[in-house]
Amino acid sequence: MTEKLFYRNAYLWEAGGTVLAVEKSGKSVRILLDRTIFYPEGGGQPSDRGIIAGEGFRIFVEKVHGKDEVWHEGKLEGRLPEPGEPVRMIVDAEWRYENMRQHTGQHILSAVFKDLYDANTTGFQIFEGYNKIEIDYPGELDWDMILDVERRANEVVWRNLPVQVEVYEELPEELRNKLRKELSDKVKPPIRIVSIPGVDVIPCGGTHVRSTGEVGIIKVVNFYRKSRKLWRIEFACGNRALKYLDELLDDYWKSLDEMPNKNRPLFERVGELKGEVERLEGEKDSLRRELWGWKARALLNEALEIGGIRVVAHLEEAPLKDAQAFVVHLVDKNPNTVALIVGENYVIFAKNKGVEGLSMNDLLREVLSKTGGGGGGSEVLARGGGFRAKPEEVLELAIDALKQSLS
Ligand SMILES: [Zn+2]
Repeated sequence: MTEKLFYRNAYLWEAGGTVLAVEKSGKSVRILLDRTIFYPEGGGQPSDRGIIAGEGFRIFVEKVHGKDEVWHEGKLEGRLPEPGEPVRMIVDAEWRYENMRQHTGQHILSAVFKDLYDANTTGFQIFEGYNKIEIDYPGELDWDMILDVERRANEVVWRNLPVQVEVYEELPEELRNKLRKELSDKVKPPIRIVSIPGVDVIPCGGTHVRSTGEVGIIKVVNFYRKSRKLWRIEFACGNRALKYLDELLDDYWKSLDEMPNKNRPLFERVGELKGEVERLEGEKDSLRRELWGWKARALLNEALEIGGIRVVAHLEEAPLKDAQAFVVHLVDKNPNTVALIVGENYVIFAKNKGVEGLSMNDLLREVLSKTGGGGGGSEVLARGGGFRAKPEEVLELAIDALKQSLS
């Protein structure tokens, strides 16, 4: 059993302890102490980081876990510690203090959601840069509602109310009635009750700041529906809220700076740019059609006449996607026409739908039987590639195959 000093004083960044057990795997070690100031992962709060040091060794703690026995995991520098040895623990105070601010901010935010919309918090997780809660709310949420919650939550922060922690073997009925959420059967005594007078009463095993003012600020940064009844709310508190907003602003100003017109608001500039892109796309489309028209006329002028059908046989330089778009356009617009297009590493055989008694897929199979490679398609359009022959040879074979199937 490890004595959890963080429950007595959440602000204890340094303390001494004694090694109870050590396990080694590669360059990592797991160490068990008689007491700890390291918070183990749990209840949405990530585990602490820091250093456990003794005579001739240091452990850079990356992960802490366990309930009764708290194990500290990390990289070992120096010799392996032995049971019975004294150690010095130092937690990464900045990381932990910010986690305490996020965690306390969550209590406040969840309490306001309950108060305003009777929405219970069903999940909570602290990440590096922000936090999320899940709330049970079957209706619609919008930004106005969210900002209302945020404003009230920050009022609680700025009133600088005490955050009180009390431990009970049995919960008094009067206190039980005040709980934000019914006590789960899973919660076994001693029960830790965290309360903010007039705002929130909830059992919790995390670490919290002493007064709401220390949370600094609560900023909701995003929200969305997660399932029919659950909404996910993303938020940040304290320094992490500032950092989040700084990054967002950095992105905002850089984006605005990329615009030809650098005047706010950005979304209007984006709208202008989008309109411009659409206009250019339209222009490109009409230019392409014009080009296709010229190209089609030139190719049809040189078309072969096989069995009463106009056959465009062409060595193409354009990539497959562009070539296919053109070929489909060509045969669609010109009755009684078949196109045999051979590119660097592809063929496209296409016919006008009105041409009867001729399958592009069969034609491709016939060519593939001589050149190797693969492909397939339908009666009107077939594509292939991977031949063991030069494009000119493939084109000759295609013309021959077409002549044969039309004779
Ligand atoms: Zn808590």
